[in-house]
Amino acid sequence: MIQRFEEITRKRTISIICGHCAKPRRRTLSVTHTVNPFNQNPDGSVRTHEQVVDCLRADLDALHRKTVLCTTCEKERKQP
Ligand SMILES: [Zn+2]
Repeated sequence: MIQRFEEITRKRTISIICGHCAKPRRRTLSVTHTVNPFNQNPDGSVRTHEQVVDCLRADLDALHRKTVLCTTCEKERKQP
C-alpha cells in the first residue's frame, strides 16, 4: 500500500531591487514540506502540521534573506 503524506506549501511574494541589474522586481518564493514520520523535531517526535508550517515560515524567511537577484540575473549567474 502506498502511503500518501500531506504536503504543505507556503508561498510568499516579495519585492526586491535586484542586486545586479538594480531593477525593482517581484518574485514569488515557494517552499514545500511533507508531514511524514521522518520529518522530526530535534527531540525525535514527529512534527505536527502546525510545526511543519512554522518550519516553512522559517525557511521562507531564510530564502527571503538570500534572494537578492531577479529571476533573469539569477539564471544568468547559474550558467557557466
Ligand atoms: Zn536583475
